[in-house]
Amino acid sequence: MDMMQVLLLLSENNDERNRVDPKVQLAALYLEIKEMMNLISAMERRLDGIAHMTEDCRVEVDRLILDKPRWASDIAEARERIIRQRGLSLKDMLSIQQEVVKLEENMRQADLRIEELQQQREQYEENRQQLTARLRRQKAQYNQHAGVYNQEKAKADALMAEFAAKEDALLASLEPDDRSLFREALRSNPDNPVVILDGDICSGCRISLSTQLVKHVNRGNRLINCENCLRVLLPSSALNDQ
Ligand SMILES: [Zn+2]
Repeated sequence: MDMMQVLLLLSENNDERNRVDPKVQLAALYLEIKEMMNLISAMERRLDGIAHMTEDCRVEVDRLILDKPRWASDIAEARERIIRQRGLSLKDMLSIQQEVVKLEENMRQADLRIEELQQQREQYEENRQQLTARLRRQKAQYNQHAGVYNQEKAKADALMAEFAAKEDALLASLEPDDRSLFREALRSNPDNPVVILDGDICSGCRISLSTQLVKHVNRGNRLINCENCLRVLLPSSALNDQ
């Protein structure tokens, strides 16, 4: 096969490969999936937070419930002391009574707090259930999208492998120097590594080339790359020969 033809086929193969490249074609879907995953992580962290707050409520209720009988027996004991111990000074009696009032107030506050904590727990439980349902839906949606992505990715990867194999076969028919020249052009210009010389201008970067270089390109017996953009330059006659 003629070298120009090989180059044109390589260029065509590259165009087709770029059209299916999953890095480009599936980028939007990939981002969407990543955002879904982030959302799921955020929901899971929020659920963890709710579980911790619920546990804090439970611990506090347990502590208050344990305190109450102790306070109740302290109250009973203080009342008994007032009744039993005659001859208490007024000051002592008042002090005991103040203690009873304080303990009774503690009991009242504890009951209020327990009620408040129970309500909070109910609210947390409601939030937990809602969030769990949302998380389940979100995960189902994620799995569906990830399934589509994986399928598309596998298809695209198989095509990419085919294009790579075709490129290798085409490159094998080039001289080693020309092969590395093409690879260099492809590395710097993955979208269009091969361009046509337009008069004395590289149609890739629109830079005017030296007469010497133009002469070499038009002779067409070895590959020449643009000094500026490194694209492989083909004479315009290469298109006519096709
Ligand atoms: Zn150029």
